[in-house]
Amino acid sequence: MNTLYRQFIVATITILSVSIIVGLTLANIVYVVYTQQKVTSNNIKTAQSIVDNMEHLHDYETLKPYLQSVSKLGYQLFIVDSQGNQEHFGNPFDSYHIEPAIVQAVLNGELYEGKQSFWMMNHFSNALENTVGVPLALEHNSYALFMKPSSQLLFSDFHTILLGFILAVMVLSIIGVVWMTKHLIRPITLLTEATKALSNENFNYELNIKRNDEIGQLIEAFHDMRVQLKHNEEARKAFISNVSHDFQSPLLNIQGYAELLLDSNVTAQQRKMYVEIINEEAKRLANLTKQLLLLTSLDQDRYPLKLEKVRVDEQLKQLVRRYQWRLAEQNIELSYKLEQAELVTDKELLMNVWDNLLTNAIKYNRENGSIHVACSAHNDVVEVSFTDEGLGIAEQDLALIFERFYQVDHARKSDGSGLGLSIVDQIAKLLGAQVSVVSEVNKGSSFTVQFKNKE
Ligand code: ADP
Repeated sequence: MNTLYRQFIVATITILSVSIIVGLTLANIVYVVYTQQKVTSNNIKTAQSIVDNMEHLHDYETLKPYLQSVSKLGYQLFIVDSQGNQEHFGNPFDSYHIEPAIVQAVLNGELYEGKQSFWMMNHFSNALENTVGVPLALEHNSYALFMKPSSQLLFSDFHTILLGFILAVMVLSIIGVVWMTKHLIRPITLLTEATKALSNENFNYELNIKRNDEIGQLIEAFHDMRVQLKHNEEARKAFISNVSHDFQSPLLNIQGYAELLLDSNVTAQQRKMYVEIINEEAKRLANLTKQLLLLTSLDQDRYPLKLEKVRVDEQLKQLVRRYQWRLAEQNIELSYKLEQAELVTDKELLMNVWDNLLTNAIKYNRENGSIHVACSAHNDVVEVSFTDEGLGIAEQDLALIFERFYQVDHARKSDGSGLGLSIVDQIAKLLGAQVSVVSEVNKGSSFTVQFKNKE
């Protein structure tokens, strides 16, 4: 498996290797172009001054202790005369190979500047060829003196420390990257496990990682997503159970009364009553289905709004006319104060809002109660309110009444489904309106819908 862990380590080692190669190449160029010539001419100067001192000596035998003491100062020396006699002083060379032509040229009085090479490390090799050569004349004999600083002098204690330092930095860098990678990848591994758990519907999988970086943000976003999915799942289950329950009870009633109708002993009066109940339950089912269909279509992000100019006051008058019979039936007095108000909105959805609010004001009213409908339009704000003198809603229920299937008091249920206000809320969101409610138990409720006209 090509893990991130392995990728990080391979990338680090690759970066280190490339850095070393590039660094060495650059150092080599700098050495060959600038430093090498300087080192060679310094060496020649030193060799020259050794030779100058030697020319004051009388013979080769007195020269030897002098060369020995020079070698002790940190130089490797090699001397050869015209007869081919040779001797070395100081640390021995690894290779004594040198072209006879070079030796001959130095014996003839020329300078030898060392072996040319484009790789700097060759200039540190412990070979006779890697020396500078100067001529020397003594007692009518000519000599060639080859010299280089001792390799021990070149690789001093400081260089050993520097090398150790570089190696330590490299090793520590690799260990650091391995640790960092583990530290970075652990939360990702845990996140993968948590995601797998989530896909298996385990919504309680907690990730106990606290970080302030991007991974921390990712984990926080994951946490929010988990909570939201958990909530959605619970809502889905509750929705299914509510829908099943709300469909089941009218269906059971229909089934029960239909069976009773089959009984030949049923009187005409009973038959009428059973048919009426079946009819009512069928209507309830039809209404529930209609509401569910509307909610589902509103849930979809792209509900096709049919925008047009709507006279809100006239729409409300039309609504009141529609419910006149029901108001009369329950002996509820309805008053209204409707200012002329116009909105650009979806007429059908808006009517649905008014319909739900008015039917609730009727349903949850009391005998001989009253309802007041008001519509006002000021500074582009259209406000519609339905105020009743009915049962009212307790404080703890106020926040919940807009939830799907929520019903305050199940005894009141009769022809309710708990979907009306959630439809109102959903439509208001879609139309850009705000719904608010004030209510007091046994005194009544007032639902207000506010639109900011954008025209
Ligand atoms: P339902 O179909 O039960 O009327 P709604 O979503 O329309 O469902 O209302 C939710 C709950 O809010 C109702 O069960 C009722 O208890 C309460 N409610 C809504 N409107 C009023 C009102 N005007 N007065 C008192 N209670 C109300």
